[in-house]
Amino acid sequence: MNRGYMGKILMVDLSRGEISEEVIPDNVYENYLSGLGLGAYILFNRIPAGADPLGPDNILGFLTGLLTGTGSFFSGRWMVAGKSPLTGCWGDANCGGNLSPAIKRCGYDGIFFKGISEKPVYLYVDSGRAELRDASSLWGKDAVETEETLLLEGGKGARVACIGQAGENRSLIAGICNDKGRLAARSGLGAVMGSKRLKALVVNGKRRIQPFNRHEIKRLSQSCNRWVQFQPPLFSGPALSRVGTLMRLLPTQMAQDGLLYKFFLKKWGTVSMNQVSIEIGDSPIKNWKGTNEDFGPGRSLTVNPDAITGREFVKYHCYGCPLGCGGKCSLPGQKGGETHKPEYETVLALGGLCMNEDADSIFHMNEMLNRAGMDTISAGGTVAFALECYEKGILTKDDTGGLELTWGNAPAILALVEKMIRREGIGDVLADGTKVAARRIGKGSEAFAMHVGGQEPAMHDGRNDPGFNVHYAVEATPGRHTIGAQLYYEMFQLWKEVKGIPRAKPLYSKDRKYLADHEKAVMAAACSKYMNVANGAGLCMFGLLMGVTRTPLFAWLNAATGWRKTPGQYLDIGARIQTLKQAFNIKHGVDPRSIRVSDRMLGKPALPAGANKGRTTDLEKVRGNYWDQFGWDPETGVPDPEALERLGIKT
Ligand code: SF4
Repeated sequence: MNRGYMGKILMVDLSRGEISEEVIPDNVYENYLSGLGLGAYILFNRIPAGADPLGPDNILGFLTGLLTGTGSFFSGRWMVAGKSPLTGCWGDANCGGNLSPAIKRCGYDGIFFKGISEKPVYLYVDSGRAELRDASSLWGKDAVETEETLLLEGGKGARVACIGQAGENRSLIAGICNDKGRLAARSGLGAVMGSKRLKALVVNGKRRIQPFNRHEIKRLSQSCNRWVQFQPPLFSGPALSRVGTLMRLLPTQMAQDGLLYKFFLKKWGTVSMNQVSIEIGDSPIKNWKGTNEDFGPGRSLTVNPDAITGREFVKYHCYGCPLGCGGKCSLPGQKGGETHKPEYETVLALGGLCMNEDADSIFHMNEMLNRAGMDTISAGGTVAFALECYEKGILTKDDTGGLELTWGNAPAILALVEKMIRREGIGDVLADGTKVAARRIGKGSEAFAMHVGGQEPAMHDGRNDPGFNVHYAVEATPGRHTIGAQLYYEMFQLWKEVKGIPRAKPLYSKDRKYLADHEKAVMAAACSKYMNVANGAGLCMFGLLMGVTRTPLFAWLNAATGWRKTPGQYLDIGARIQTLKQAFNIKHGVDPRSIRVSDRMLGKPALPAGANKGRTTDLEKVRGNYWDQFGWDPETGVPDPEALERLGIKT
C-alpha cells in the first residue's frame, strides 16, 4: 500500500472479547479520506438508530489521519468519534501529541470498540498482536498514573490513550487523555470509554507508512517550514492587551492573516490571545453576561502571556510539527510539580468566565482536570453557571456543602472542581455539564446554562464574530469552535485555491460582520468542508491558519495518495462528510432545528456596554442559507434525497 493510508481497521467487540481486522476498500478513502471521514463512514453505517450512547451499541473509534506519518507537517492529530452522551448527536474530539502515528504503525487507520466488557480492560496492539488485558488494578487511577504504568508494560515506543476518574464515573464532560494529561476533551467521549469499561488503548506499532511520493511531500513540507520559521522579534506579553484595545476601538477591521497569529503561537502558544481576546470581546466574561470592562487589563494581567510562559520550563512539539506551541510548566507552590501549559480555553474558562484572576488556582485546576480527564471548557462553563445560580440565590451554602460560590472566589472554585471530579455532593449535580445540571437544579436555572445542544461553548463569543455562533449551531457536533468563523475564513485564504468562493475584503467596516447575508453562509460552508478534509488528513488547525498556500493541505494529499484531485474536488469530499454527519444526527432522531444556541450568547438581549455592546446574531437566516449550500432543506436542515444520491450516501 503506497497511498498514505493503511487500508485496514481493527474492530474490538468488548462484550464477546473478540478482535477482528477488516480491509477497507480504496473507494472509501477516495470518498471520505481517513480520520473523521472514515469514522463517519463506519459509525453512520454501524451504530443502530437510537442507540444509547452509554450502551453496548455505541461504537467508539480511535482514528489517525491520512497524512499522519507521511512526512507532511502538522499531521499528528489523533481523533476519536462516537455518539455523544452529552448531546445525543455525532460526537468527536481530537488531540495532538504522539499517539496518532503509533496507531497507524500498528497497521490500522482506526481502532473501533463496541459492546461492554464485564470487567475493566485495556487493549494492547502492536505490529502483529492485538489483545485485551485486565485493567482492574488501573481502575480508579488518574490518567497520568495510568499512562505511566502502561508505558512500562507496553515496552519501548508504546503510546497510550486512557481515561481518568471522570470517564470512569461517566461524567458527560469527560474526555480521553494521551501524552500524560493532554485531552481529546469534547463531546463527552471519555464517558463512552468508561461505560465500556475500557480503561486504555496501548499501541506500539513499527510498520512503515508509505506515501505515494515521499520526495514531493518533503519538498512541500520544506516550503511550509520556511513560513513557520519566519519569526520577527515580538513585543512583551502585557503589551498585547493594548493591541486588543486598539482593535476594539477601531471602526474598521483588516482581514486577518494567520501568519501574524503564527508569530504569537510560536512564541507563547495559545495563551498569547488571553488578554487580546478579552479586550476585543472574543472571550466571554462572567458566564457571558459580563464584558471586557468587568475584567479589564488590570485584572487579566495575571494571565498575560508572559506570566503564563514565565512558568514554562520546556517547550514541546506534537509529532510532525515544526511550530511547537506546547509546553510544560511548574506547578505553583508544589516542589517538583508540573503541568502542561494551560491552553487559552482553559485559562479563560476557569478565569474570566468565573471572574477568577488567581493564576495559581488556574494552573492547579488545569492539572486536576487533565489528570481526571475532564474537559476544562465544559468544567469552566459549568462552574460559571453554578456561580450565577449562587448569586441569584438558586444555590445556597447548604446546597454547596458550605462553599461560598461568589464570583472570583478562587479557593471555592477550586474546591468545586474537585467535587465535580469526585462526583461529591454539589459536584455530582454539576459533573454532567450545564444542561443536565440545570435540569437537576430547576428553579429557573436553565436561563443561566450556556450551552449549544447540551455542550458548553468554547471561549469565543459569537457577539464578536458571528461566525462562531453559526458553527456552534450548524455543525453535527453542537458547540464546535474549531471549524469556522469570520476570522478562520480570512486566515484559511481558501479563495486562493478554490474557484467560486468569495475573497475576504482586506479592510471592512466592522458592521459588515453582523450582516446575515448569503455570502456569510457560503463562507461558513467552505470552512466546514475544508475542516472535514483537514480532519480526514489529521492536520492541526493551527497549521491551517497560516493559509492554504503556505500549509498545502491539498497538494500534500495528492502527493501522499497519488490522486490528482483539484481543491474543489477535495471540498466536495468535505461536503460529503458533512452531509453524512448530518444524516447521522437525523438517523438518531435529532431535529437540526432543535439545536439551540443560548439566547444570551446570541445577544438576546444585547449587552448594554463593552466591546459587544448592542450586538445580536441573526442565526436563523444564516443557518438556512448554510443548509442550502449543502443541498439540504433550508427550512429543516434535512439532506434532500437527491443530494444524498449525488454523494453516494445510502440511508
Ligand atoms: S501547532 Fe501546537 S497543537 Fe498544533 S501540532 Fe503543533 S504543537 Fe501541536
